[in-house]
Amino acid sequence: MLNVPSQCFPGASSQQRVSSGGRSKVPLKQGRSLMDWIRLTKSGKDLTGLKGRLIEVTEEELKKHNKKDDCWICIRGFVYNVSPYMEYHPGGEEELMRAAGSDGTDLFDQVHRWVNYESMLKECLVGRMAVKPAFPKGMLPKSQATDPLAKEGPSSPSYDWFQTDALVTIVIYTKQKDINLDSVIADHRDDSFRVETVIQDYSYLIHIALSHEIQEDFSVRVVENVGKIEIVLKKKETTSWKCLGHPLENHNSLIPKKDPGLYYRKCQLISKEDVTHGTKLFCLMLPPSTHLQVPAGHHVYFKLTITGTEIVKPYTPVSDSLFSEFKEPVFPNNKYIYFLIKIYPAGLFTPELDHLQIGDYVSVSNPEGNFKISQFQDLEDLFLLAAGTGFTPMVKVLSYALTNIPSLRKVKLMFFNKTEDDIIWRSQLEKLAFKDKRFDLEFVLSAPTSEWNGKRGYISPALLSEFLKRSLDTSKVLICICGPMPFTEQGMKLLHDLNFSKDEIHSFTA
Ligand code: FAD
Ligand code: NAP
Repeated sequence: MLNVPSQCFPGASSQQRVSSGGRSKVPLKQGRSLMDWIRLTKSGKDLTGLKGRLIEVTEEELKKHNKKDDCWICIRGFVYNVSPYMEYHPGGEEELMRAAGSDGTDLFDQVHRWVNYESMLKECLVGRMAVKPAFPKGMLPKSQATDPLAKEGPSSPSYDWFQTDALVTIVIYTKQKDINLDSVIADHRDDSFRVETVIQDYSYLIHIALSHEIQEDFSVRVVENVGKIEIVLKKKETTSWKCLGHPLENHNSLIPKKDPGLYYRKCQLISKEDVTHGTKLFCLMLPPSTHLQVPAGHHVYFKLTITGTEIVKPYTPVSDSLFSEFKEPVFPNNKYIYFLIKIYPAGLFTPELDHLQIGDYVSVSNPEGNFKISQFQDLEDLFLLAAGTGFTPMVKVLSYALTNIPSLRKVKLMFFNKTEDDIIWRSQLEKLAFKDKRFDLEFVLSAPTSEWNGKRGYISPALLSEFLKRSLDTSKVLICICGPMPFTEQGMKLLHDLNFSKDEIHSFTA
């Protein structure tokens, strides 16, 4: 669907450009980049053909607009004329046409629900879907007649609150044992307080306009074995509160995790340093009024406004170094998040990021991702296949495994890059391999100099079958793979050919 180029579009000389097939590899014509699209939307041209009018669209009407040059698509109740966007869609026209004349919400969510289509397509908005006729008396629509959560989801959490002269404590009873500090994301903004507790694939939301003012910072505690969360707010004045406040959107509800949409807070750029010629380590500071920890293997979304259009791209937090698990953090407390980001001079988003000055802000979303720490349970061999910045999810995964998994016998990283100069944190990796005998390292270069003595080429059956040797015949293994989309797709295919099961492979994607 509305595919903002992300991991799909490699640099100009990359061989990925010539690979074929798959939604991510459709080359765009000259003058059809996202920046060209933004320019067109700002040109004042009538992109809907409705001269600025917004209309109510019936299902019958929607169905009629199903051709390339007259293509309407409904996303979350809003209808867009996407014909003018066709040539700019990096996933190709065919992918957009899959939803022509129909509700494309599910298709959109499957591919990348994080893309800020509202902003990108605002000039293509035709109107809203007309409200369907009411249900016959006594009948409820399916979603109201049955409560799917009662059957499929976790049992419903609840909350309570109490106060002392100085403090207000909100207590959430999740009734789940696997809750930890990563599961809780809390934000205090103006007079509203929002807590999202992630419980399996659901979010339990507390969202309140507080009745009284509180101080900026607050603390979060989790009693893990009973799944109880305590959030302690500091009153601004020592008056007694008669109520906590009044409910805001989705308050006290347990909803599928993807339903509330991405929630952002502004984070300040604290530092930026070169790591390789193309990649930099960015340090961002969360506001004091936010509690957020990104679990290993998960990513967040950055949002920046670029020439008037909000653009969203995913990035994967790392630690400040490979050794930070074993030493005092440079900045104490969990307020700092680090990112290794490759700057693409011809890219849309990263040059803007690179232009940010220390002290500037970028909006950062709640974490997302489907990597589960439970995949490490009883793990004996961990194999990591990374290409370029596909190394980023491996950083926390590697540190977590080496620090927390007693059953772990072997961790091996095969790191694919173009040249030696592109290898991120090479000396740290070599130091780690020297210090920890469980960790082995292999670099593979696709365009090395003649002095390179190591492995060369691309991911291949020969490289993988030699590398992926279990330490024991019966070892429990996990293989993580991340890099440019064609690399990951090819790697997945090779792993299946080598008879690794689905449960033994995790690929990182958006
Ligand atoms: P883009 O505008 O996407 O362009 C990138 C390159 O492709 C440029 O050289 C450009 O000229 C070329 N290009 C653009 N469009 C086309 C096209 N249609 N046809 C051919 N070539 C094209 N990146 C990191 O650096 N660090 C991370 O931690 C990180 N984490 C990620 C996590 C996830 C889950 C995913 C999916 C991606 C992650 N990425 C990460 C990649 C990141 O989201 C961006 O894709 C990347 O930063 C490039 O963005 P850009 O807008 O600057 O470049
Ligand atoms: P890069 O420098 O372009 O490529 C790294 C190495 O992979 C190079 O040796 C490259 O070879 C090789 N390669 C590229 N395409 C290949 C293919 N189809 N088959 C085999 N080998 C291939 O990488 P990058 O610019 O850092 O890009 C990293 C990618 O990872 C981005 O697309 C980013 O979106 C993605 N990423 C994803 C996540 C996630 O969680 N999903 C996280 C971080 C990054 P050549 O260049 O010589 O062709």
